[in-house]
Amino acid sequence: MEMPKVMECSVGNCAYNTMQTCHAMAITVGEPDGDPACDTYFVADRHGGVKDMTAGVGACKLAECKFNTDYECSASSIKVGMHEGQADCLTYELK
Ligand code: SF4
Repeated sequence: MEMPKVMECSVGNCAYNTMQTCHAMAITVGEPDGDPACDTYFVADRHGGVKDMTAGVGACKLAECKFNTDYECSASSIKVGMHEGQADCLTYELK
């Protein structure tokens, strides 16, 4: 199983985001109540992460997503963006 990449993230105010790319080494997705929020999103005074890397999806808690297998994401890649006021996995689809 390969770690899927965050192909695009449009949440420009996240500390890990530069030019629509997530530079965390890996992100975690999902809240226990079935919310596909990016759990790694946070706002800080400066942007961080590893600039020559694009984030992978290290873990996802949304067992009800059709791409989720044993709390890991099996999509080829995902997109993250603002949805209803929060940073969400936009690739999320119910099984
Ligand atoms: S596509 Fe589904 S399994 Fe993959 S990170 Fe998004 S919500 Fe989780």
